[in-house]
Amino acid sequence: MNSEAQLAAVLGHEIGDVVGRHGAEHLAKQNLGSSLVNAVGIVSSGGNDGGQGAATIAGAVNRLVDLRYGRKDESESDRLGLQFMTQAGYSPVGILQVMKILAAAGRGSRQPEFLTSHPDPGNRFDTLNALINKTYPNGVPKTLDEGRDRFAQYVRISAS
Ligand SMILES: [Zn+2]
Repeated sequence: MNSEAQLAAVLGHEIGDVVGRHGAEHLAKQNLGSSLVNAVGIVSSGGNDGGQGAATIAGAVNRLVDLRYGRKDESESDRLGLQFMTQAGYSPVGILQVMKILAAAGRGSRQPEFLTSHPDPGNRFDTLNALINKTYPNGVPKTLDEGRDRFAQYVRISAS
């Protein structure tokens, strides 16, 4: 990851999981905390191990996911996550980039856990991209920020 918008996309999805799953709300809230800790820890490490970092984040995120909830709910969490991150002022480009990171992390001989618990990242990308184009027919507003500079600054501070 290299922007706050990407991190907001992951956390937005997780919040969507919590919001959408009232029956498992208590458990999900606990896991949301550990996911956030994991995500921040990875950010703080500031390593340039791109793919591995992304895979670790994906793993942390997806430990929250119980297969019982199914893929329809995951699409709903993507939709909610997009809503939350843009309401927070982040560019929706971040969530599309996260889908690309997940797709790249999923390539290889061994299928990562997240591919079995979540829909295919390519399909999620297409669905989200269509939703973004529908939401912003005149293009993404310039007021929505990717937060790349702040993210880079935070990584530098944490590494020193
Ligand atoms: Zn999810």
